[in-house]
This record gives sequence, C-alpha cells and structure tokens, in this order.
Amino acid sequence: MGFRPWLHREAEKLHLNGWCRNTGQGVEMEAEGEECDLQSLIADLKNPDEIPPLAEIHDVACRTVSPKGDTGFIILASKAGSHDTLIAPDLAICDDCRRELSTPGDRRYRYPFINCTNCGPRFTIIREVPYDRPKTSMGKFPMCPDCAREYKDITNRRYHAQPDCCDVCGPEISFISGKISCTKEDAVAEAKKLLAGGGILAIKGLGGFHLACLCDDETVIRLRKRKERNGKPFAIMCRDIPAAEKFCNISEAEKKILDGPRKPIVLLDKKDPYAYAGLSRSDTVGIMLPYTPLHILLFENTPYDALVMTSANLSEKPVIFRNEEALNELEGIADGFLLHNRDILRRCDDSLVQVIGNREVFYRRSRGYTPAPLYLHFDADHILALGSEQKASFAIGKGKRVFMSQHIGDLKNIETLSFYETQIHDFENLFGVKAETLVCDLHPDYLSTRYASERSKTDGLKLIQVQHHHAHMASCMADNGLNEPCIGIIFDGTGLGTDSTIWGSEILYGDYRHVERFASLKPIPLPGGDAVTEEIGRTAFSLSYISGLDEETASCTSEKNKIFKMMITKNINSPLSSGMGRMFDGVYSLITGVQYAGYEGEAAVLLECLANRSRDEREHFVYSWENDGVLRMDWRVMIRDLMKQKEEGVSSSVLAMRFHNTMIEWACEACRNAGNQTGIRTVVLSGGSFFNRIMTEGIVRKLEEEQYTVYTHHRVSPGDEGIALGQLAAAKAML
Ligand code: ZN
Ligand code: ZN
Ligand code: FE
Repeated sequence: MGFRPWLHREAEKLHLNGWCRNTGQGVEMEAEGEECDLQSLIADLKNPDEIPPLAEIHDVACRTVSPKGDTGFIILASKAGSHDTLIAPDLAICDDCRRELSTPGDRRYRYPFINCTNCGPRFTIIREVPYDRPKTSMGKFPMCPDCAREYKDITNRRYHAQPDCCDVCGPEISFISGKISCTKEDAVAEAKKLLAGGGILAIKGLGGFHLACLCDDETVIRLRKRKERNGKPFAIMCRDIPAAEKFCNISEAEKKILDGPRKPIVLLDKKDPYAYAGLSRSDTVGIMLPYTPLHILLFENTPYDALVMTSANLSEKPVIFRNEEALNELEGIADGFLLHNRDILRRCDDSLVQVIGNREVFYRRSRGYTPAPLYLHFDADHILALGSEQKASFAIGKGKRVFMSQHIGDLKNIETLSFYETQIHDFENLFGVKAETLVCDLHPDYLSTRYASERSKTDGLKLIQVQHHHAHMASCMADNGLNEPCIGIIFDGTGLGTDSTIWGSEILYGDYRHVERFASLKPIPLPGGDAVTEEIGRTAFSLSYISGLDEETASCTSEKNKIFKMMITKNINSPLSSGMGRMFDGVYSLITGVQYAGYEGEAAVLLECLANRSRDEREHFVYSWENDGVLRMDWRVMIRDLMKQKEEGVSSSVLAMRFHNTMIEWACEACRNAGNQTGIRTVVLSGGSFFNRIMTEGIVRKLEEEQYTVYTHHRVSPGDEGIALGQLAAAKAML
C-alpha cells in the first residue's frame, strides 16, 4: 500500500532515474544513477524503518542492466496481461489523517471520510481492477480541484490516493430517526445524543453496519432482546487505550495490535473476570478502538467512552451493508440510523484476534487483513479450496500467493451461501485467476462440498477431497512453511473421518499428501446427533452412562435419561464422535450441572474460565488406553475419577484444571509414542480447541521439554476458517 509512490519519492531523493510498476509477482523497478545512490536504495528497501508502514517486503532481488539514459522517474501502468493483483485491505485512519481531522482550520476538519495513501477503505470500495477511482464506489464523487492537486502532487501524502476526497467533493453522512432527518455535523450530534440517551444506533461502517449502544446492563439486555441473541458475547469499541484499560488488563503486545493500522477486535482478559457479564459470560471481552474518522467523531466530547459495537446481522445472516437493507431489516431493532452515501461494495466483518506471544491468533481474519495475500513456500496456482461449512472460507492460489476470503459465516443460511458463491466469483475476477482444480472437505453434505462437486461438473474441473483433520494439519504446516513430515495434534469439534465416523481428537502423522491416524479419543455416542451442541447435558449423560456410572450421577432429569439411554443402547440417532469439543461440552456439564449451552462452543470457553481459577493445579485424572486398530484414549476411567473427586468435594475449578491436564497428558503421551515409532520430531497443533490457551500452552511446554519442535497457527485461524489453506496445500501435493 502506497509503495510505488514511496519508490517514486525515494528515487527523486536519491537522484535516480527510471521507472517502477506492479507485476503479478510484485513490484519491478529499473533505476539508474550513481553506484552509492543505488546502494542506498537497496539498503532502504531492506530496512523496515524506511519502507512505508504497511508495506511488507518478502524478498529483494537485484540484477545489473546497462543504463538506458532515462531522465526522471515514472510509475508505469501495471504490466500488460497481468492483473494488478494486490488490493489493499481496509485500514484504520492513520495518525496524519487523525491530526487533520481534529485541527480547526484544516480543510478536512471534522470530515468523516478523511483518508490518504496510508489509510482508509480499499477492499470494500473496489468494483473491479485495475484499481482506479472510477472503478470504485468513489467513482460518483469527482475530485474537486484541491483534491485533484494533492492527488497529482508527488510530494503530497495523498499522491495517487484513489479514495481521496473532502467535504466539497466527497460523500456525506446522514442521520434518520423517526421524524428527525439531518446531515453532516447535525447528524453526528443527533447520533451522539441518541447513544448517550440509551438508544440503539445502526451505524454504517467500512465493511458493513454495526449496532451500537451504551455498555450498561439495561441497554445491553435491550439490544440482546431485539437482536434475539442470547449467549454470544458482544464486542465493544473504546475511545482509546486508557478507556479500554478500565475493562481489561492490556499487555504492550496487545496494545500494539489493538492500536495498530488494522485495529481488529482483540480478545482481552477482564480485570475482574466476573464483571461485564452482560457483554460476555467468559473471562474475556472483545475490544476494538475507533478505526474510521466517523467513529472518532462519535466519541468526541461524549459522556460515554465505550460502546457496544456488534455486527448488524439477523439470525446468522451475513452482515447488512446497504442503506435500504439496513432501514428495512433493522426497523424495530435500531432507534436511529447513521448512514452515508459511499457504497460498500462487498461485506467485510471486523477481524477477531487474541494476542499470544507478540502475534495475532485469528478467530476471524477479515477487515484489515483481507485480501492481503499469504505467501507460500510452494506454487498453488489456479487451485481453489472451498473450506469448511459452519465457519466457511475459501482460498485461491496464484503463483506462490494465496488469497483467503474474508469472514463468511455459516453456509447453512441461504443468504450466507449466496454471499460465499458471489465472493468466490469476485475473488477470481479481482485477482485475475480462474480455478482449474477444486479442493473440498470429505463431508458430502457440506454445502461447500456441494458447490465444489457441482462446479467441477459444470466447468469440467478436477476435484480433490481432503479429510477435515488432514486439512487442519496441512493448514498449520503451510502456515509455518513446513515441508518435512509432521505429527499433528488436531483437536476440534467435528469433522468426517475416512471411516465415515465423526473425528475430532486426532493424533496424525504424515505430510501434505497423506496422513496416518495414530491415536484418538474413544468415541462418544451423541444421543440426538447435532442436538448435543446446544443440549450439552446429553453428552454428559452419555459420558457418564458409558463409564458405567449410576445414572443418577449424570446430571439429567431421569425421564430424559431413559430416552437417551435407549437411544444409545439401541443405536438410534446416536452417532459416535471423537470430537474434543464434545468432550469439553460433556465434562463442563458434568462438573457444573449446566444442561444447555448458549451457543456452540460456549461450554468449552466456560470450562477454560473455570480452570483459570486454578491455574497452578498440576494433577490430572487417571485414564487408560484401548486399541481398535487406532490407539484410543479410554476416558471411562477419567470420568469415574472425575465424578468420584466431585463427590469428595473437590472444587469445580480444580476439577476443570485437572481435566485440562488430562487432555494435555494423553495428547503428549500419544505424540511421544508416534514420535518414537516414526522418528518425527516436528509437531503442529491445529483445530478450534487450540483457541484454548491452557491446552495450547500446556502441550507446547510439555513437548518442547521433550525436545520436540512445536508449531501453532499465526497467519490463519486454528479453527475451521483456516482449513482452506490446508486443503490448498494438500491438493497441491496430491496433484
Ligand atoms: Zn491517512
Ligand atoms: Zn475535494
Ligand atoms: Fe475443524
């Protein structure tokens, strides 16, 4: 972003002549001048403090050519035939623009669409490439003479900034609530009044609408009721870091990402784990800082310094991003609307990360990151990976680059499925790459699998299917640029196995092409199948019943028990699953007696929170092994041990921590056996269970002590959103 203009300025500074241009492979530059000036150019290119803040240099390759006698320096049009493949993500307002925004007398003082070469919207306003203003949703706002002058002035920080605009020529905001309707400054004033008075405001942002309101319990409960969202946590937007520190403890590394150019939602530890239960029932709350000029204006001289800021979507549908849609669908939910007339051309939700070490671990890689490519250590040209289903994503390869989609959502929702299909088409156009090979999950009912098989038929494309946990493993290997055979510890909710049963706690070994299943959990019967993800008491009963415990100890009502028991023994709609997610659900229910989860995965989060209260606990429960061709951790002994300790009065948090320790213990034991058998010393961790910090840190620490090299995810999500990358890598190897 802003790289060619920077090169241009650099060339002028060093008195170099020549040109630069974008190619499919990167930026190409030809420069002639004094030897020492050429050397300082190369030195600057390799110095992260010299290059523009958002540029990422992967490699600098130089070659000597004979001087052409060029005079001056120019930016050439992108190489013919090669798409200008790099489209920048939408970035948060930069410090320079923020300064202008708050400087009285500046011609963009308090203008809500201020942006420059280093910041502002990109991905969400581009209609087609090459990236020029007429091909963006800024096309309908011709630049005024002042803006045009800046755009053409190489010394100006808005040189070649396509979305550049000002109050004279650019978009404007408007506010609508009941009979009130106003624009510009009045709109901001009315919006702030509505928020301060406890109202719910729909705000049009960069990649979609938010619903915003105060953070107090009463307002939050009203928002939950109207949005029909019971358990799921709400993210908040805080005025600044000090405001965020009232809620959470924030490390230096977290501050850097929270306040960096991408400004994702960062999951942070609450100061008081029991506080703000209305926002989230766990120990963490998702916080972001204002990232558009409009957000900043909404926090100017206000009585509040934090607002709930949640994606405006209804019942699992994708986020709303058009004005009319918002006005229609949010009627009765929002008390007012803060709109603008710059169209959002494609949705892009807020990214959600947790900071571990100094880096992001992605729950959701979206705004601020998409569509910046990931660079691979292999060529994945023309491979389209279709991802999973519930946390859908896709990835398309172009040379050594892979473009990962933004957050999509659950494909079982019809609008989401259509968003997914549109985005695939959109990415193929934007990045100038047509799929030649398709790769999808093994599950025949995933809508991503159906898309792949239908498209492979209609377009005559090759189709490869990769088992879910193999894809997770390959994803972590590709994430870390690994080529050697690895052991994969893959813990997640569910995924179809090669034996047609549901897998989910897998110790695998192998490479991109092929894996062997070395160990797993003894399968758990799930009475009612998918019903267990919400009614976790069913899994608790199953664990307890199979462990041979008196049914009374399973915390279910006895009438229900009889039915579940019948379902399990007669094998009626009780699929077997070795999913770690289900094990967490069941154990949480056994320890606490809670029968229902607010949303899928909540029990696992809450079990980790419980364990956090006893982080120093070192004991684990007893467990044993059985072997049915695959080594199986037999949890029956563990469940009996757990329930005995519970009866003896061991506290819930100690039980929760001992359960975590048990999972860490058996995973490491299995890994050690696999290592001894194969000689492999490299381990990758993947799957949604590795959002759990106790599990991740525990396994990493233990295996490193035993001289294993352990890798976790940093560029894509450990969860299902990340498997498209693994599918792509596996398909490449299989081809
Ligand atoms: Zn800026
Ligand atoms: Zn202007
Ligand atoms: Fe998964």
